[in-house]
Amino acid sequence: MNYSNLLFDADDTLFDFPKAAELAFHALCRANDLPDTPEARRLYETINRSLWDAFDRGEISKETLTTLRFVRFLEALGLERNPEKCDQDYLAALGAGVYPTPHAQEVCEVLSQTHRLYLVTNAVASVQRSRLQGSVFAPLFSDAFISEEAGAAKPQKAYFDYVLSHIPGADERNCLVIGDSPATDLLGANNAGLPCCWYNPNGLPRPAELRIDWEIADLRELYEIV
Ligand SMILES: [Mg+2]
Repeated sequence: MNYSNLLFDADDTLFDFPKAAELAFHALCRANDLPDTPEARRLYETINRSLWDAFDRGEISKETLTTLRFVRFLEALGLERNPEKCDQDYLAALGAGVYPTPHAQEVCEVLSQTHRLYLVTNAVASVQRSRLQGSVFAPLFSDAFISEEAGAAKPQKAYFDYVLSHIPGADERNCLVIGDSPATDLLGANNAGLPCCWYNPNGLPRPAELRIDWEIADLRELYEIV
Protein backbone atom coordinates (compact mmCIF):
# COMPACT_ATOMS: atom_id res chain seq x y z
CA MET A 1 0.00 0.00 0.00
CA ASN A 2 1.39 3.40 -0.96
CA TYR A 3 -0.90 5.66 1.07
CA SER A 4 -2.90 4.45 4.05
CA ASN A 5 -4.75 7.78 4.47
CA LEU A 6 -6.70 9.19 1.53
CA LEU A 7 -7.65 12.87 1.89
CA PHE A 8 -10.48 13.59 -0.51
CA ASP A 9 -11.75 17.01 -1.48
CA ALA A 10 -15.57 17.02 -1.48
CA ASP A 11 -17.07 19.40 -4.02
CA ASP A 12 -16.42 18.53 -7.67
CA THR A 13 -14.29 15.60 -6.59
CA LEU A 14 -16.76 13.28 -4.79
CA PHE A 15 -19.86 15.50 -4.69
CA ASP A 16 -21.46 16.81 -7.87
CA PHE A 17 -21.69 20.33 -6.54
CA PRO A 18 -23.14 22.00 -9.69
CA LYS A 19 -26.17 19.71 -9.53
CA ALA A 20 -26.74 20.37 -5.82
CA ALA A 21 -26.27 24.11 -6.37
CA GLU A 22 -28.77 24.18 -9.23
CA LEU A 23 -31.47 22.48 -7.15
CA ALA A 24 -30.70 24.77 -4.20
CA PHE A 25 -31.09 27.82 -6.45
CA HIS A 26 -34.54 26.64 -7.54
CA ALA A 27 -35.53 26.22 -3.87
CA LEU A 28 -34.18 29.69 -3.03
CA CYS A 29 -36.24 31.28 -5.80
CA ARG A 30 -39.43 29.45 -4.81
CA ALA A 31 -39.09 30.44 -1.16
CA ASN A 32 -38.30 34.11 -1.83
CA ASP A 33 -40.29 34.88 -4.98
CA LEU A 34 -37.14 35.48 -7.05
CA PRO A 35 -36.89 35.04 -10.84
CA ASP A 36 -35.84 31.43 -11.43
CA THR A 37 -34.19 32.05 -14.80
CA PRO A 38 -30.84 31.00 -16.34
CA GLU A 39 -29.81 34.68 -16.40
CA ALA A 40 -30.49 35.13 -12.67
CA ARG A 41 -28.64 31.90 -11.93
CA ARG A 42 -25.58 33.01 -13.93
CA LEU A 43 -25.63 36.36 -12.13
CA TYR A 44 -25.70 34.63 -8.74
CA GLU A 45 -22.92 32.21 -9.74
CA THR A 46 -20.68 35.06 -10.92
CA ILE A 47 -21.15 36.97 -7.66
CA ASN A 48 -20.73 33.82 -5.55
CA ARG A 49 -17.61 32.68 -7.45
CA SER A 50 -15.84 36.02 -7.07
CA LEU A 51 -16.51 35.98 -3.31
CA TRP A 52 -15.27 32.36 -2.94
CA ASP A 53 -12.12 33.35 -4.87
CA ALA A 54 -11.61 36.20 -2.39
CA PHE A 55 -12.14 33.72 0.46
CA ASP A 56 -9.61 31.27 -1.05
CA ARG A 57 -7.09 34.15 -1.22
CA GLY A 58 -7.74 34.84 2.48
CA GLU A 59 -9.26 38.27 1.85
CA ILE A 60 -12.71 37.77 3.41
CA SER A 61 -14.25 35.55 6.09
CA LYS A 62 -16.89 32.88 5.59
CA GLU A 63 -19.45 35.07 7.38
CA THR A 64 -18.75 37.97 5.05
CA LEU A 65 -19.03 35.69 2.05
CA THR A 66 -22.37 34.14 2.94
CA THR A 67 -24.14 37.42 3.71
CA LEU A 68 -22.51 39.54 1.03
CA ARG A 69 -23.34 37.21 -1.85
CA PHE A 70 -27.07 37.73 -1.38
CA VAL A 71 -26.75 41.45 -0.63
CA ARG A 72 -24.99 41.85 -3.98
CA PHE A 73 -27.30 39.47 -5.83
CA LEU A 74 -30.44 41.29 -4.64
CA GLU A 75 -28.85 44.65 -5.46
CA ALA A 76 -28.04 43.46 -8.97
CA LEU A 77 -31.61 42.21 -9.43
CA GLY A 78 -33.01 45.46 -7.99
CA LEU A 79 -35.25 43.47 -5.63
CA GLU A 80 -35.94 43.99 -1.93
CA ARG A 81 -35.68 40.76 -0.02
CA ASN A 82 -34.00 39.72 3.20
CA PRO A 83 -30.45 38.61 2.26
CA GLU A 84 -29.99 36.67 5.51
CA LYS A 85 -33.17 34.69 4.89
CA CYS A 86 -32.10 34.06 1.29
CA ASP A 87 -28.80 32.67 2.51
CA GLN A 88 -30.49 30.47 5.12
CA ASP A 89 -32.92 29.09 2.55
CA TYR A 90 -30.15 28.47 0.05
CA LEU A 91 -27.86 26.75 2.57
CA ALA A 92 -30.70 24.60 3.91
CA ALA A 93 -31.47 23.37 0.40
CA LEU A 94 -27.79 22.86 -0.35
CA GLY A 95 -27.37 20.84 2.84
CA ALA A 96 -30.22 18.54 1.86
CA GLY A 97 -28.60 16.95 -1.15
CA VAL A 98 -25.44 15.06 -2.10
CA TYR A 99 -25.07 13.75 -5.64
CA PRO A 100 -21.96 11.63 -6.21
CA THR A 101 -19.66 12.36 -9.15
CA PRO A 102 -19.13 9.47 -11.62
CA HIS A 103 -17.92 6.28 -9.82
CA ALA A 104 -17.32 8.20 -6.56
CA GLN A 105 -19.56 5.92 -4.49
CA GLU A 106 -18.06 2.69 -5.88
CA VAL A 107 -14.49 3.94 -5.45
CA CYS A 108 -15.08 5.01 -1.84
CA GLU A 109 -16.80 1.73 -1.01
CA VAL A 110 -13.90 -0.30 -2.43
CA LEU A 111 -11.10 1.83 -0.95
CA SER A 112 -12.71 2.13 2.47
CA GLN A 113 -12.11 -1.61 2.93
CA THR A 114 -8.33 -1.18 2.79
CA HIS A 115 -7.65 2.51 3.48
CA ARG A 116 -8.82 5.24 5.82
CA LEU A 117 -10.80 7.88 4.01
CA TYR A 118 -11.07 11.52 5.12
CA LEU A 119 -12.78 14.58 3.69
CA VAL A 120 -10.73 17.79 3.42
CA THR A 121 -13.04 20.62 2.43
CA ASN A 122 -13.34 24.40 2.43
CA ALA A 123 -17.01 24.87 3.17
CA VAL A 124 -19.69 26.14 5.49
CA ALA A 125 -19.44 23.58 8.29
CA SER A 126 -23.17 23.20 8.99
CA VAL A 127 -23.91 22.61 5.31
CA GLN A 128 -21.09 20.17 4.71
CA ARG A 129 -21.84 18.16 7.88
CA SER A 130 -25.50 17.92 6.96
CA ARG A 131 -24.72 16.90 3.39
CA LEU A 132 -22.20 14.28 4.48
CA GLN A 133 -24.42 12.82 7.18
CA GLY A 134 -27.30 12.34 4.80
CA SER A 135 -25.17 10.79 2.07
CA VAL A 136 -23.96 7.39 0.92
CA PHE A 137 -20.45 8.50 1.92
CA ALA A 138 -21.13 8.91 5.65
CA PRO A 139 -20.29 5.34 6.75
CA LEU A 140 -17.22 5.17 4.47
CA PHE A 141 -15.28 8.11 5.94
CA SER A 142 -13.31 8.08 9.19
CA ASP A 143 -13.61 11.85 9.64
CA ALA A 144 -14.27 15.14 7.86
CA PHE A 145 -12.05 18.20 8.25
CA ILE A 146 -13.97 21.35 7.42
CA SER A 147 -12.03 24.59 7.12
CA GLU A 148 -14.47 26.56 9.26
CA GLU A 149 -13.82 24.18 12.17
CA ALA A 150 -10.07 23.86 11.52
CA GLY A 151 -9.50 27.61 11.86
CA ALA A 152 -7.61 27.59 8.55
CA ALA A 153 -8.42 26.64 4.98
CA LYS A 154 -6.87 25.00 1.93
CA PRO A 155 -4.33 25.93 0.55
CA GLN A 156 -2.83 27.05 3.90
CA LYS A 157 -0.21 24.77 5.42
CA ALA A 158 -1.88 25.41 8.81
CA TYR A 159 -5.02 23.66 7.56
CA PHE A 160 -3.11 20.49 6.64
CA ASP A 161 -1.12 20.65 9.89
CA TYR A 162 -4.50 20.57 11.67
CA VAL A 163 -5.65 17.63 9.53
CA LEU A 164 -2.49 15.58 10.09
CA SER A 165 -2.56 16.22 13.82
CA HIS A 166 -6.06 14.66 13.94
CA ILE A 167 -5.24 11.50 11.96
CA PRO A 168 -3.60 8.72 14.00
CA GLY A 169 -0.15 7.89 12.64
CA ALA A 170 -0.37 10.33 9.73
CA ASP A 171 2.80 11.75 8.18
CA GLU A 172 4.01 13.29 4.91
CA ARG A 173 4.48 9.89 3.27
CA ASN A 174 1.32 7.97 4.08
CA CYS A 175 -1.26 10.61 3.13
CA LEU A 176 -2.48 11.38 -0.39
CA VAL A 177 -4.49 14.54 -1.15
CA ILE A 178 -7.01 13.97 -3.97
CA GLY A 179 -8.86 16.94 -5.44
CA ASP A 180 -9.97 18.86 -8.51
CA SER A 181 -8.68 22.33 -7.62
CA PRO A 182 -5.09 23.39 -8.39
CA ALA A 183 -5.58 26.59 -6.35
CA THR A 184 -6.71 24.88 -3.14
CA ASP A 185 -6.09 21.10 -3.17
CA LEU A 186 -2.83 20.90 -5.11
CA LEU A 187 -1.30 24.15 -3.87
CA GLY A 188 -2.31 23.12 -0.34
CA ALA A 189 -0.58 19.74 -0.71
CA ASN A 190 2.49 21.52 -2.12
CA ASN A 191 2.52 23.95 0.81
CA ALA A 192 2.22 21.10 3.32
CA GLY A 193 4.71 18.78 1.59
CA LEU A 194 2.06 16.10 0.99
CA PRO A 195 1.71 13.85 -2.08
CA CYS A 196 -1.20 14.89 -4.28
CA CYS A 197 -3.38 13.54 -7.05
CA TRP A 198 -5.20 15.88 -9.43
CA TYR A 199 -8.69 14.75 -10.38
CA ASN A 200 -8.98 16.39 -13.79
CA PRO A 201 -12.00 14.88 -15.59
CA ASN A 202 -12.24 17.77 -18.06
CA GLY A 203 -8.64 17.53 -19.29
CA LEU A 204 -7.61 21.03 -18.21
CA PRO A 205 -4.01 22.07 -18.94
CA ARG A 206 -1.55 21.18 -16.20
CA PRO A 207 -0.44 24.16 -14.08
CA ALA A 208 3.33 24.33 -14.54
CA GLU A 209 4.23 25.84 -11.19
CA LEU A 210 2.82 23.01 -9.04
CA ARG A 211 4.16 19.60 -8.08
CA ILE A 212 1.53 17.09 -9.19
CA ASP A 213 2.42 13.52 -8.27
CA TRP A 214 -0.53 11.87 -9.98
CA GLU A 215 -3.20 12.96 -12.43
CA ILE A 216 -6.42 11.06 -13.13
CA ALA A 217 -9.47 11.66 -15.29
CA ASP A 218 -11.54 8.85 -13.69
CA LEU A 219 -11.68 8.15 -9.95
CA ARG A 220 -11.29 4.39 -10.62
CA GLU A 221 -7.68 5.08 -11.64
CA LEU A 222 -7.00 5.46 -7.90
CA TYR A 223 -7.07 1.66 -7.52
CA GLU A 224 -3.67 1.51 -9.27
CA ILE A 225 -2.18 4.44 -7.37
CA VAL A 226 -3.01 3.99 -3.71
MG1 LIG B 1 -13.29 20.76 -5.25
